[in-house]
Amino acid sequence: MTTKLKQGFDWLADCLIVSRNSPEVIQAQYKELLTKVPLLYVILVTNSISLAFTHYKSAPAYLSIYIPIILSVIAIARSLQWLRFRSKPFDLQHAQHQLKMTVLFAVIVGVIFSAWGISLYSYGDMAQKGHVTYFMSITVIGVIVCLINLPLAALSIIATVGTTFVVFFVSTGNPVFVAISINFALVSGVLILVTFSYFRAFSEVVESRQQLNKKHTETQRLNRQNEQLANQDGLTQLANRRSFLSHLSKLIEKRQSGSTGNGDSFVVGLIDLDGFKPVNDVHGHAAGDRVLWDVGVRLKKILDDDALLARMGGDEYAIIINKALSRSDINELSEKITSAIKEPFSMRTGIAQVSGSCGFAIYPDAGNSSEQLMERADFALYHAKKHDRGSSVIFSSEHEKLIKQKSKIEQALIQAIANEDINLHYQAIVDGKTKKVIAMEALARWQHNELGFVPPDQFIPLAEKMGTICDISISLFKKAVRDASTWPKDIYLSFNLSAFDIANETTINKLVKILEAENLPSSRIQFEITETSMMRDLEVCAKTTEHLRNEGFKVAIDDFGSGYSSLGYIHKFYFDNLKIDRTFINEMITDSRSQGVVKTILELCINLGVNCIAEGIETEEQKELLLSLGCNQMQGYLFCKPAPLNEIRHLMEG
Ligand code: C2E
Ligand code: CA
Ligand code: CA
Repeated sequence: MTTKLKQGFDWLADCLIVSRNSPEVIQAQYKELLTKVPLLYVILVTNSISLAFTHYKSAPAYLSIYIPIILSVIAIARSLQWLRFRSKPFDLQHAQHQLKMTVLFAVIVGVIFSAWGISLYSYGDMAQKGHVTYFMSITVIGVIVCLINLPLAALSIIATVGTTFVVFFVSTGNPVFVAISINFALVSGVLILVTFSYFRAFSEVVESRQQLNKKHTETQRLNRQNEQLANQDGLTQLANRRSFLSHLSKLIEKRQSGSTGNGDSFVVGLIDLDGFKPVNDVHGHAAGDRVLWDVGVRLKKILDDDALLARMGGDEYAIIINKALSRSDINELSEKITSAIKEPFSMRTGIAQVSGSCGFAIYPDAGNSSEQLMERADFALYHAKKHDRGSSVIFSSEHEKLIKQKSKIEQALIQAIANEDINLHYQAIVDGKTKKVIAMEALARWQHNELGFVPPDQFIPLAEKMGTICDISISLFKKAVRDASTWPKDIYLSFNLSAFDIANETTINKLVKILEAENLPSSRIQFEITETSMMRDLEVCAKTTEHLRNEGFKVAIDDFGSGYSSLGYIHKFYFDNLKIDRTFINEMITDSRSQGVVKTILELCINLGVNCIAEGIETEEQKELLLSLGCNQMQGYLFCKPAPLNEIRHLMEG
């Protein structure tokens, strides 16, 4: 009960006390009063003129002429003042003040007008007396309706004029007037209740509208933020791939619609960091992030303000230079870019260094769609990386020819896979001392009647890109296993797997099934996985090698030392053989550093308890040196070149 009472009291206080209302409610109240207060005075003045008119002859002039004129002038002045407020910008303090003044005026004006009305009562006959009651009651009701948005003022009117009215007319003892008074009191009571509940609803509407506005503004802010996030790279705060590509498409659209001069050239560049992975491995991921951020800052400094710089993901950046640049301009720019990237980065953990390769494509020479331009810039980048890391290449007509050649090869490769035209050659892995064959490595061979011999390091990466490598691996493995089942039992098959095979569980399971079908023990198979493909996804690779070894297969790390060999990861893998990349063997005789690397790798193998195989032995000198260093297992042209099985089968028997 008491809480209900308190709630009721709070409700009344809310309605009554102007300053307790929220600024939005006050503003809405004030706005309503701007039109209603002048109307209120219109009612007051016209009602007064009408009452003065009916008492003109019977009442003294001061009551029927002067006082009404003075009161009307005051009322008109006040209503003109309110009309002037309408042209002023909203000010909360002013509005608050005017609301309070309106309450005060309601009391003063109410008292004066009712005193004037009552004073006329004694100067008229019954009809005129009736007019006084009519004047007072209708004016009060009219004024309350006008003040419906300001309940305190409405209540003040009832309290002053209404009470005076009732008290006075009841005191006349005239039954008609008494009845009118009672009637009036009841209507006024209801009117006050209606005013309060109307005001309550009114302020709720205003407040909920305000909440809605707030929510709308918040939603707009979040939308803007989301859009920004969707278009921004979180790490470097540069544009991301999505916004870069959409910017590029828009630029091309503009060029093609002629709005910026059709054919105006511009340049798309791709920049890829070389040696970023080791920074992550050696200095940690936080340092890697720092490098990515700093590269962004350095590139921004070099580029004009109107150039767009984006991080496309990983360690790849892209730029659009929205103006025509000559080839020498581009070379100059790329020179600046590559030397900026080469500058060392000082980290808490020491100095880190990376380099950057760039590929450029010029619109419209290299292409006239965003896909084409990106593809060609990527092609140029690939060539830059392939030939000389830290260099840059601009897409040219030569590259165009290469692309055409590549797509020809792609088409032919699809056919070759379907027809199982890809065959195997074998190269022996031998004991360097006794020349006895230990294993045979299967190497893919593809002879095309138009394209001629296509080397595996050309079509294997292509098949990887086309997503057909697993089909090749499975088809070749079937052939290899069939061949191996005809070999002496102490010679195992060494089979190359691609990074995509390792990552694909289905392929691995299929390989296992093929072997089961041929009835060959898994111990006679070794899978070679290159160091670079291991590094693509260390976790997946570790899982697959474990799976393969559990199945009884041997696993070898191929081309060790050619990638970013990091000693940090090697102990995480369980493998049987490590194949030293042939570049070290090649340089070992002339370069003492290469010899040092070979020695270190051999020591590493001893420590890890794995066997070491040296690849690419071409001379007796290399063989002798390796033997003296303790490496016995070898592979290379010195012993035998890769050849079809029937040509080298005798090696296994001898
Ligand atoms: P790899 O696995 O390192 O294979 C050894 C490569 O070195 C072979 O080249 C072989 O012909 C060559 N080689 C062997 N001894 C010598 C030597 O003494 N001197 C020189 N200069 N080269 C020697 P090939 O057959 O052209 O294969 C190149 C690469 O293509 C392979 O390197 C391997 O990564 C990949 N590959 C070949 N066949 C397959 C395959 O069936 N599957 C997969 N995934 N990759 C394959
Ligand atoms: Ca190999
Ligand atoms: Ca190799």
